[in-house]
Amino acid sequence: MAHPSTNQIVLIVDDEPLNIQALQSVLGSEHNLLFASSGEMALEMVRQSPQPDLILLDIVLPDMDGFQVCTKLKDDDKTRHIPVVFLTSKWEASEEARGLELGAVDYIRKPFSPPIIRARIRNHLELKKNRDLLENLSTLDALTNIPNRRRFEEIFAHEWHRAARTKHPLSLLFIDIDHFKRYNDLYGHLAGDDCLKAVSRTLQSSLGRTTDFLARFGGEEFIILLPDTGESGCRHLAEKIRSAVEGLELAHGDSPVSPYVTVSIGAVTCSNVLSCDRNMLLENADELLYKAKHEGRNCVRMQTLP
Ligand code: GH3
Ligand code: MG
Ligand code: MG
Repeated sequence: MAHPSTNQIVLIVDDEPLNIQALQSVLGSEHNLLFASSGEMALEMVRQSPQPDLILLDIVLPDMDGFQVCTKLKDDDKTRHIPVVFLTSKWEASEEARGLELGAVDYIRKPFSPPIIRARIRNHLELKKNRDLLENLSTLDALTNIPNRRRFEEIFAHEWHRAARTKHPLSLLFIDIDHFKRYNDLYGHLAGDDCLKAVSRTLQSSLGRTTDFLARFGGEEFIILLPDTGESGCRHLAEKIRSAVEGLELAHGDSPVSPYVTVSIGAVTCSNVLSCDRNMLLENADELLYKAKHEGRNCVRMQTLP
């Protein structure tokens, strides 16, 4: 049978070297395996990237029991989605029920049968792969392969709350391609699509920090969220992006602004999100974009909120 999950990772949490060896020989040829010998170690490892696609969890561990580990995993937004399979010598039905009620997808008893555990793990990983695929379909824009508006709304809410906690500034750029309707009319819709892809690649590569977040907001509109970024950083990046898009030198034969494809940008910095309103940040960026359009396009208009 083909190996369906060669790039998926299984984290095995067990403190008994013999168990680890046995699982290594049963699953090692088919999956990438990681090992943790305690609950703490497992919780530490799931926070690292790449995350495991499945966790095979023993119940008796040296520092905390597997039920506690599972509870912590299911309580955390960042790890909740990882399927947990208990693998344990605890045979009581009540233990099995408890494990499943905590959110585990399966409960396998030791000693295990190699072909059965192999098949079950394969099935769970296949389901995980399909779920990841759906997740990507619902949060990534199909044309440009960057996050879509829906994903932006999630990240925006998350970063807003983080900025409220840390009292760091938050900036946002609203970017719109200039005279894009004319571009489509002149070069055709397919060329328009290629242009959108090229612009989104340029926007992405202009971003310096891993926390900077780019999304396609709508047709030819993009949005960039800049956590921990104040007025001068925001201004610098907006100008860098404007000039990077112009510097692509994508011919635009029907633009009254430039011989090349250009963008207009509305940029807002919120110094303290506790004194701002989340929608206001978006609305102001939109108004500034409108102003940039009105005042000649291929330019940045910026505002700082207290
Ligand atoms: P402005 O400088 O004022 O922004 O003018 P504009 O022509 O760019 O703005 P307008 O909103 O009038 O037109 C946007 C155009 O973007 C029209 C629409 O057909 C095009 N567009 C939106 N989404 C896509 C897409 O996915 N692919 C292509 N090729 N074109 C798209
Ligand atoms: Mg436009
Ligand atoms: Mg537009």
